[in-house]
Amino acid sequence: MLIDAHSHLQLREFDADRADVIGRMQVAGVKTITVGVDDATSRAALTLAEKYPDCLWATVGTHPADGGLDNFNIEVLRELAAHREAVGIGECGLDYYRLKSGEDAVKEKQKEVFRAHIAVAEEFKKPLMIHCRPTKGTDDAYEDLVVELSNSKPHVPVVIHFFVGSVSVAERLLALGCYFTFGGVITFARDYDAAIAVIPLERIMAETDAPFVAPTPYRGKRNEPAYVGETVKKLAELKGISFDEVAYSTVATTRAVFGID
Ligand SMILES: [Zn+2]
Repeated sequence: MLIDAHSHLQLREFDADRADVIGRMQVAGVKTITVGVDDATSRAALTLAEKYPDCLWATVGTHPADGGLDNFNIEVLRELAAHREAVGIGECGLDYYRLKSGEDAVKEKQKEVFRAHIAVAEEFKKPLMIHCRPTKGTDDAYEDLVVELSNSKPHVPVVIHFFVGSVSVAERLLALGCYFTFGGVITFARDYDAAIAVIPLERIMAETDAPFVAPTPYRGKRNEPAYVGETVKKLAELKGISFDEVAYSTVATTRAVFGID
């Protein structure tokens, strides 16, 4: 059994064959947490989690760069967060990847919305699923994330999804108690090996981020949770341990952090 800690099965990319995708996931012995990126997709994730209670859970939140920031309303997030199927708050965080210099107002808005997610996570005692993406070649968004987390010191687990930062940032986030998810990109790019080497196995979870970034040998195709084993295989290779050890550890960590079975 494996858990894909971060997927988006509610997105329209799966409208034509969602039941088949979930069927393949079940046959592969995979469960997943399907992540909201705005109010509508958070609601859709909750609906999906109600329909598949034994293999699928939801998180609710507003992604920093997917266009939902201007409509963000903390009361709506609180209402979504109250659902039993919501096992985490996010994805939320900071995304400077497409910002041009001088867009400081956008950064401030992202921080304001992120702080609201932290407050709701604390209120409902649910972990944070964080999306953080820096400007190319820098750690800028991670530097600000470290500041935000150091200031707020959330009393809930903090999960950094799809970590792309440097070893130095990884070490600072580890010191703050954060967990990390890694996905298909680690099967074909070597930029993550150094960070994976310093992050202890017990702080790591496996994800797909489906429908995005499929692992080798499915590269270029639509990704799906059934493929999460490819990431587990690569993590095992990089850590120099067995597939079963990584499978057991990532499942145990994901269960403990999100309070799921
Ligand atoms: Zn995502």
